[in-house]
Amino acid sequence: MNDRCIICNNLDAEFTLEHIIPFALGNNNFSLRNVCKKCNSLIGEKIDVYSTNNIMAELMRMTKKVPGHSGKIPFPFAKGKTEDGFTVKLSLEMKPTIEPKVSKNENKYNIIAGSHDEAINIAEKILKRNGKPPLSKSAKEIILSKVAHKEHPRINYSFELNINMLKIEAIKIVFETVVYKLGTSCLQEAVVEKMQNVIFKYIYEDVLDIEFLNENVSFIDGAMFNSIRDALQVTFKEGIFHIIHFTVRENDTVVTVIVEGMLPMAVKLDTVDLINNNSLIIVGYPGNLLINE
Ligand SMILES: [Zn+2]
Repeated sequence: MNDRCIICNNLDAEFTLEHIIPFALGNNNFSLRNVCKKCNSLIGEKIDVYSTNNIMAELMRMTKKVPGHSGKIPFPFAKGKTEDGFTVKLSLEMKPTIEPKVSKNENKYNIIAGSHDEAINIAEKILKRNGKPPLSKSAKEIILSKVAHKEHPRINYSFELNINMLKIEAIKIVFETVVYKLGTSCLQEAVVEKMQNVIFKYIYEDVLDIEFLNENVSFIDGAMFNSIRDALQVTFKEGIFHIIHFTVRENDTVVTVIVEGMLPMAVKLDTVDLINNNSLIIVGYPGNLLINE
């Protein structure tokens, strides 16, 4: 039997390695091979990128040193704004530098710079550009006497969190985990086909089935899994541990998705016999921890 892409059903596609939990959240071995190249890159661009590059994920990646595909570890505080709206860059050592900016009002220039030297340099460039001679020593002194100095600028940051994007990521993780555990034959199951369709519609048509997301995905208190995580932390000293847990509640299968860098979520699937009750998957990073029970 030929393999089909589990997202677009394409038969003769070039298959690629699809990370079920995004690589940039710390997963290098929990993956699938039957996602075509096109679907894989659309999932990356339209779903994964959001869950790996929002403030929660970046803080986790910064503290746990998780690189993205480029090898870079994010630093969410690299760029902020002062109260008066100027851009400030912050180094990893927490040293702020103001981004230089020149504004002109009639024939007066206003220079924003990180240091006196930088301000003088900018002033000289402006003069040169206007065909004027370089600054004399006294002119420099006049300029510096007009400097307004800010010693410890307060840096403001803004961030946004798009809840629906976290929910579609949870659906993608659960859908791919189900296929990982049951194989492609499970695509016949109505609820699995529905998840496939929700992902397909979003990545190819930009249509997000918000009703489905609201009905099936909820944010939960993930504390009940803390003991598992604590035990892993003791055994492995350090690392990242993602937990996916299947259980049956009333007439639904409930999948708990505890991915570091994301809010803990529960995905409800209206079927009871999809995957055995109490099935547990633990993905660890770095290293190759993959517990699949
Ligand atoms: Zn595909």
